[in-house]
Amino acid sequence: MRGPKDYLKLGDQNAYCDECGFKFKLSELLDRWDGAKVDRKCWEPRHPRDYPQLPRTEQPPQPGTGDENIEYTSVTFSTNPSAPSGTFSGTSGHSAE
Ligand SMILES: [Zn+2]
Repeated sequence: MRGPKDYLKLGDQNAYCDECGFKFKLSELLDRWDGAKVDRKCWEPRHPRDYPQLPRTEQPPQPGTGDENIEYTSVTFSTNPSAPSGTFSGTSGHSAE
């Protein structure tokens, strides 16, 4: 199959666009970021979506924090028998008059 691009051109050769598959002269093709030989129409800068996605910064599941792992410690609070009891007022007994 011969096309309009099959004319003889010294120092050049036929090449195919890796993107659309059309025939071009090798000098017409450009090197794309992914190493493909593409024509000017198909050439494009690397799309941001092609970059690897950064992992989300959400908290991963913490192992070993289930209720079955809670250690219950028995603590007995004892009231101090010498501690004064009753209701205290911050102003009583401190008047200078
Ligand atoms: Zn192309």
